[in-house]
Amino acid sequence: MSKKTSTKRASGKSPKSRTSNPKSLKYVYFFGNGKADGNRTMKDLLGGKGAGLAEMTNAGLPVPPGFTISTAVCNIYYKEKQKIPTAIDREIDTHLQTLEKTAGATLGSTENPLLVSVRSGAKFSMPGMMDTILNLGLNDDAVEGLKRRTQNGRFAFDSYRRFIQMFGNVVLEIPKDAFEHEFDSVKKAAGARLDTELDENALREVVQRYKKVVKERAKREFPQDPHVQLKMSRDAVFRSWMNARAIEYRRIYDIPDDIGTAVNVQMMVFGNTGDRSGTGVGFTRNPATGAKEFFGEFLINAQGEDVVSGVRTPQPIRELEKVMPKAYKQLREITTRLERHYKDVQDFEFTIQDERLFMLQTRSGKRTGYAAIFIATDLVAEKLLTPKEAVLLVDPESLNQLLAPGFDPDEWKKIPAATRGLPASPGAASGQVVFSADHAVEWVNQGKQVILVRRETVPDDIHGMFVSQGILTATGGMTSHAAVVGRQMGKPSIVGANALEIDESRREFRVDGKTVKEGDFISFDGLSGEVKIARVGTKPSEILQVLDGTLKPEKSNIYQRFEKLLSWADKIRRLGVYANADLPDQAALAYAFGARGIGLCRTEHMFFGEGRIPIVQRMILAESEADRRKALDELLPLQREDFYGVFKAMRGCPVTIRTIDPPLHEFLPKREDLMVDVARLEATGKKGKELDEKKRLLQRVEQLHEFNPMLGHRGVRLGITYPEITEMQTRAILEAACRLNKEGVKIAPEIMIPLVGLVKELSDQKVIVDRVAADVMKEQGIKIKYLVGTMIEIPRGCIVADQIARDAEFFSFGTNDLTQLTFGFSRDDSGKFLKIYQEKKILEKDPFASIDTEGVGDLVRTGVERGRKTRPDLKIGICGEHGGDAASVHFFHHAGLDYVSASPYRVPVARLAAAQAALSVKVGD
Ligand code: ADP
Ligand code: MG
Ligand code: MG
Repeated sequence: MSKKTSTKRASGKSPKSRTSNPKSLKYVYFFGNGKADGNRTMKDLLGGKGAGLAEMTNAGLPVPPGFTISTAVCNIYYKEKQKIPTAIDREIDTHLQTLEKTAGATLGSTENPLLVSVRSGAKFSMPGMMDTILNLGLNDDAVEGLKRRTQNGRFAFDSYRRFIQMFGNVVLEIPKDAFEHEFDSVKKAAGARLDTELDENALREVVQRYKKVVKERAKREFPQDPHVQLKMSRDAVFRSWMNARAIEYRRIYDIPDDIGTAVNVQMMVFGNTGDRSGTGVGFTRNPATGAKEFFGEFLINAQGEDVVSGVRTPQPIRELEKVMPKAYKQLREITTRLERHYKDVQDFEFTIQDERLFMLQTRSGKRTGYAAIFIATDLVAEKLLTPKEAVLLVDPESLNQLLAPGFDPDEWKKIPAATRGLPASPGAASGQVVFSADHAVEWVNQGKQVILVRRETVPDDIHGMFVSQGILTATGGMTSHAAVVGRQMGKPSIVGANALEIDESRREFRVDGKTVKEGDFISFDGLSGEVKIARVGTKPSEILQVLDGTLKPEKSNIYQRFEKLLSWADKIRRLGVYANADLPDQAALAYAFGARGIGLCRTEHMFFGEGRIPIVQRMILAESEADRRKALDELLPLQREDFYGVFKAMRGCPVTIRTIDPPLHEFLPKREDLMVDVARLEATGKKGKELDEKKRLLQRVEQLHEFNPMLGHRGVRLGITYPEITEMQTRAILEAACRLNKEGVKIAPEIMIPLVGLVKELSDQKVIVDRVAADVMKEQGIKIKYLVGTMIEIPRGCIVADQIARDAEFFSFGTNDLTQLTFGFSRDDSGKFLKIYQEKKILEKDPFASIDTEGVGDLVRTGVERGRKTRPDLKIGICGEHGGDAASVHFFHHAGLDYVSASPYRVPVARLAAAQAALSVKVGD
């Protein structure tokens, strides 16, 4: 599951106010004997591990006693230049004394020594990123005491050598292999295969050697005073919060740096006392598949870290039933109880000491998207959760995993990655490399599977993208053309794979020291961004098979559960969920995914359809209005058919159609290509029609050339300069709508004018739309409802939204352009620097992927507020890429929008996120 956002601590007080008033503040929290100072709600202060230990203690479960030093102390530690104030030291001492009393043992005693673990634990689990030390309290005397008391010298010295090794590594920063080297040589000398085969004497030898390692490497004796050991270990755990891998982990999962880690000091229990002891980890359900089965591993005669470290191969947890049936039964009872208590799958740690079970950790288990759906629906069926709670249990983003085709995981793992790019659209893609859209089509017609590799894609690559298994580009960000179209098509896509050196003319690319030629096989995972130079088999997602009719719903368990969960979400959400879809088949898919409206139908995408480009070019090249109208007349029936198809696919749901938006040169051939053609024709001495035509085209292309097309002659500016285009499009929309209404499907088209920043721009176009609409309705002899509105995507549009709303019957925030124009970042070029911005923490997130709530978001709020001041019933939506981003959907819910519109494949994410947003509101009141 992905990260959370709040960084505020429960008390809401800053560390400063804590230090200035130390008496009233509590930094250390005890747990033991069935009672704890903390509980599960205190993760901010106690960390996840500490809160879990407290909660389990309160529930009467067998948890070794201990205390948690709060995360606030971690921040103080860093503030005070890595020192702990004496007042806090005293508070820790007091709790240590309580622990000694509870345990009936004393730290450093030779009679009955108390041993403790010192465990890291932040609010969010960061597996393996920070450090933990076991068996603290042992020294040369205490180890003899432990031996006497337990009559088990092997155990005592095994514990001691473990402690020196962990302390040496974590606190004194001595590399692990320095210890492992000594351990292996003793093992060899003793002729032992397994660690457990070493006897007391061999382990005494290991301890001697380890102490030498410490002296040589750390230039000091291994500290014998347990109180010194404890302080040093505590500080080392605080330091591990800032180690490189923990920092990197927090960056990836968006966890704030300033929340700090807690330190748990806990009485040791021993899984290494012999064959009646052991340790293990497990899940209450299978985290990969969601199946309701006890899942996990354990080791006999071992301590915690052995299970994960791989020194010995653990046994499946079911085997425990045979070896220690009583402990197993108790473990099952406890973990089942924990699952009921937390109402979620638990990931737990346990240790068995001489057949006595102890619980050491519990937390909600991380799971795949697939498992998440199974678990959520099962828990409702088992009456453990209400549908509302189940909806909150699934991370919306994880639904993407269910839609993507998958690699055979074993095969995939074997191959090393050649490079990584931005994971623009999830899914597994495998095929032969092609470097042009035309080749893609050619090869696919020959029955091949291809991956289109481009420096970047352009709108007229669309046919090639459509037939490819996946799209891989070297430049571009998360909303570059390839990324947007890839997602819309549900094609696995990776963009911005900078390491690719593409030579399109030689039809090859170089990466990772290898050259890949056209026709070579590559594979990539659009979810992780990894690219591999190999062919790997894939299988399509079951859910898609159901949606496109190749699989019966009743044959697919996962589909039924997916649908069930989303139908619960639909009952909860307030936001409508629409889709961005340009063509009838996309609209049909969007409908199947649960979209109940189209928030953005980009008419120009229709211009790229089969055989249309020449007509569009004629329209653009026309010298006179009359010629232009001739070409438009040819386009009219084609557009009408498209609109009819889209309306029909949406079965009467609202459809928002945007008039032409991109600069016209996008429909013309590239200037460089034309220059080459002209030169070639001239060189061969050929004269005549072809050359003249090319020359004329080149001239027009040069005329249309813009230095900054994104800010150039596009959007409403086109409609204003060429009103006949708006006329034709309005006519096509209205005629299609009238026809459908006559056929009995009530539809009310919404005509959307793009890029409006001045109310008069909209007024100009509205006059045309209303006039043509009136004409069409008169001709058709039918009156239908239609709306005229605008895209709000220019900052000025947000600011004068009150004026614009006089003419606009609806707003749709175009947050891609709005983000681009607010930041002044080109969405096609920002890939280059946004990564660095994120690394340097100048920006936390890519604002094109997740809405910038402060800046762009404030413009949205302003637009909503001012627009509704003029027109209280103004319908407001959003149709940028953000419509399918869960965090952004939350924002739009709170901003009071009526709907979000996302790519068809993101519709399920939006449905679930919208429900979660609605529930978060209710929690507050
Ligand atoms: P991590 O977060 O890396 O899992 P933990 O603090 O949970 O680190 O501890 C590492 C291992 O040591 C775990 O297997 C845990 O169960 C075990 N362990 C921690 N504290 C104790 C203890 N007091 N007694 C026995 N085993 C412990
Ligand atoms: Mg743990
Ligand atoms: Mg736009």
